[in-house]
Amino acid sequence: MNQTVKIAQTADVIVVGGGMVGGLTAAAFARCGLEVTVLEKRLPAPFSVEQHDIRVSAISYATERMFEAVGAWEAMRAMRVCPFRRMLVWDRLSEASTLFDSKKIDQDWLGHIVENRVIQSGLWQCLQELPNVRLMCPASLQSLSIDDNQARIQLDCGFTLTAPLIIAADGAQSLVRELAGIDVDGESYAQHALVATVTTESSQQDITWQRFTPEGPQAFLPLCGNRASMVWYQSAEVVAELKELPEHEFLQRMQAEFPDRLARLLTLESRGSFPLHWQQAKSYVVPRVALVGDAAHSVHPLAGQGVNMGMLDAAALVECVMDRYHAGADIGSLRTLRRYERWRRGENKLMIKLLDGIHHTFQDDGDAAGGMERAVLKTARAVALRAAGNVGPINKLCMRMAMGLEGELPALARGRLPLREMPA
Ligand SMILES: Cc1cc2nc3c(=O)[nH]c(=O)nc-3n(C[C@H](O)[C@H](O)[C@H](O)COP(=O)(O)OP(=O)(O)OC[C@H]3O[C@@H](n4cnc5c(N)ncnc54)[C@H](O)[C@@H]3O)c2cc1C
Repeated sequence: MNQTVKIAQTADVIVVGGGMVGGLTAAAFARCGLEVTVLEKRLPAPFSVEQHDIRVSAISYATERMFEAVGAWEAMRAMRVCPFRRMLVWDRLSEASTLFDSKKIDQDWLGHIVENRVIQSGLWQCLQELPNVRLMCPASLQSLSIDDNQARIQLDCGFTLTAPLIIAADGAQSLVRELAGIDVDGESYAQHALVATVTTESSQQDITWQRFTPEGPQAFLPLCGNRASMVWYQSAEVVAELKELPEHEFLQRMQAEFPDRLARLLTLESRGSFPLHWQQAKSYVVPRVALVGDAAHSVHPLAGQGVNMGMLDAAALVECVMDRYHAGADIGSLRTLRRYERWRRGENKLMIKLLDGIHHTFQDDGDAAGGMERAVLKTARAVALRAAGNVGPINKLCMRMAMGLEGELPALARGRLPLREMPA
């Protein structure tokens, strides 16, 4: 007879999803002294010296400081990270452009391009060294129930886990969000993202390129050595066609479509595509459950802000929860969690709207945009880009925003763990 094993285990916090945002959330809580259990449904792919992960993220300065604060940044640097100091953005129709340069705001770099696998591995190395973290992988949850004092999770393997607080870091299709009865607003974009890792004749130096074209934005991101990540936002049909081309034809097409000034493409290492949408949970919290990262929101990736927004969620949540923990209060109560929601939901909503607005302003909507409308949009793009490039304070503000240095920053984003202040 098949007997189900039922073992009850308790923790202060259970983090569902050991991806990038879940990894940081768990490491930060553990560094603050809480007992943390992490549930992840699949083992992360190991770091490979030869093979780059096709998914890369532009990590802001604020996110880097969070990795430093939890002790994961050194491990990531030891694997592979690529700093960029400049970012060139231009519009193909008006030829207006803007250069952002970290020197103008006295910073060494604007950010780093890091493979998602490196981020996750760096955080997992850190989690594995912490005695108050229990990593359960592969583990999949089956049910969630919430009562006045605790939340209870039932796993497929028969385990039962309880904690006063469950954190949903299980991505855009979050099961925890669904089980908690939280709905989402959102919309799919017509475009998909085609992503390719290529080798190039020369190295990419320290600059990222982003060009807006009527068909969709194109980005060229430096990776270590003679490698780069190319992203092209295009209709699903074009993306499907590009993915099927033989390697040499694909490289020829990318070389022809991307700006002349980029290095010559030599080989294709990998390519893939991602559908795009924006999404925001109608609520980030219910009693005993808080959503972070893509479980709470997804954005158009054209400005590389998704992971960075998720990391700020993690930092704000840890700060709100630790404040109440030090005060001896219930860390899973709605009162504790509402402060986190007020802090992050409004900021994330603004970013979703901003990125959606950029997408539509730079997108030629074909027949939807008449000649007059197109001319107005072209002028608006040129004015916006020139203002961002030539008006010193606007240029600096844009850079500080992209680096995550503006707005109400949680302690972790300033490089500090929110530990209890010691009495003088
Ligand atoms: C083409 C593209 C380019 C992008 N570029 C950038 C960029 O440059 N910069 C940037 O900041 N963002 C970028 N993003 C966005 C970024 O990838 C996401 O915001 C980020 O992956 C979200 O991280 P997360 O940890 O919240 O979720 P995920 O990365 O989706 O991780 C969720 C984790 O939860 C696990 N999980 C899921 N369900 C369960 C379950 N039931 N039980 C247990 N575990 C579960 C999954 O296995 C996974 O490990 C890009 C996105 C795309 C599509």
